[in-house]
Amino acid sequence: MPNSLEQNYQYRRRVMRVLLLFVVVAGFIFSAVNFYRGLIPLAIMELTYALFSLFLWQIILVTERFQMWITLFLVPFFIILVYAMYVPNSSESIFVWILTVPVISYLLMGRRQGFWLSLFFIFCGVTVYHFRFISGDSAINIADSVNIIASACLMISLAHVHEINREKNEERLLELAGTDKLTGLANRMKLMDAFKLYAEYAQRHGSPLSVVLFDLDFFKNVNDKHGHHVGDVTLRNIARFIEDRIRKTDLLARFGGEEFALLIAGSSDENCFQRVDLIRQQLCDTHFDHEQTPLTMTVSAGISTFGTDGTSLDDLLMKADQRLYLAKDNGRNCVVDANNEQIINLALKKMQI
Ligand code: GH3
Ligand code: MG
Ligand code: MG
Repeated sequence: MPNSLEQNYQYRRRVMRVLLLFVVVAGFIFSAVNFYRGLIPLAIMELTYALFSLFLWQIILVTERFQMWITLFLVPFFIILVYAMYVPNSSESIFVWILTVPVISYLLMGRRQGFWLSLFFIFCGVTVYHFRFISGDSAINIADSVNIIASACLMISLAHVHEINREKNEERLLELAGTDKLTGLANRMKLMDAFKLYAEYAQRHGSPLSVVLFDLDFFKNVNDKHGHHVGDVTLRNIARFIEDRIRKTDLLARFGGEEFALLIAGSSDENCFQRVDLIRQQLCDTHFDHEQTPLTMTVSAGISTFGTDGTSLDDLLMKADQRLYLAKDNGRNCVVDANNEQIINLALKKMQI
């Protein structure tokens, strides 16, 4: 799942492609017209800009420096627009373009930068308009200025409200896409996303990172004995139970049916084992009451360590899963990590002999 920033960029990349296509076509047409009319500097600017836009059109969907290219595109775009308004014999109708400034700025730059960019260039446009056309009948002049300023303010306000709502909806959608509906925990997709950040941090700072897989013991019995609904409530209770015992920097996710994955950052192997084992012990000692149905659950867990057991989430989950199944074979209600794995393996082999 792309993160929030990348999601936002994807949306803007598509908007930018449409704008670039338009600018390439319009740029060639306007530069031809202005060459013909003898407005040579303006025509050269437009032609250069159309060629620049053609180049951007090809790279904009893939470039990693998206924000930089947008700024390099928009600032000259608005400068050319204001310059075109300023050229003495340019058409009066060019002033209608000033109303596109807020829409384009907000769509491409977002709320904050979009606001300041629109405000600045609308101010420039209105100033140029004032110097070019305001003279004579003062009542008409005032009406003209008010018309331009009021319509520009309306466009900024609408673009602003729209952008705030769009940002909120996008955030909400991203949150929903990364949330497990039953427990409200992160889901597998969010786990994968978050792991990239945790792994990057661990690699850069050389700090420990562990992956824990919890699997409830004999959970099927809960469904079979008490019904699926009680099973669901139990899953929610256990999710809260574990969540209440982890740190803010840890990430707990529902990995599958009755399995939970936990990322623990910044704890040594020993410390991590102790913390997970304490959760296991406390869960075993806790009685959940649901509609006068006392329920006691136990959990088994496997732990893997970033670096020694691999650096990808797949490798770490696979190792944690192997240890989890060793914990199940060992009679359940226990935790297996790299340190006790050998001893448990040997003990199990001896038992088989
Ligand atoms: P073990 O100790 O070997 O893990 O035994 P178990 O019974 O927990 O394992 P098993 O994989 O056989 O059963 C898991 C059960 O979890 C089966 C499935 O019905 C139940 N389950 C999975 N997702 C949900 C869910 O969302 N709600 C409920 N109520 N049950 C679920
Ligand atoms: Mg299971
Ligand atoms: Mg289970």
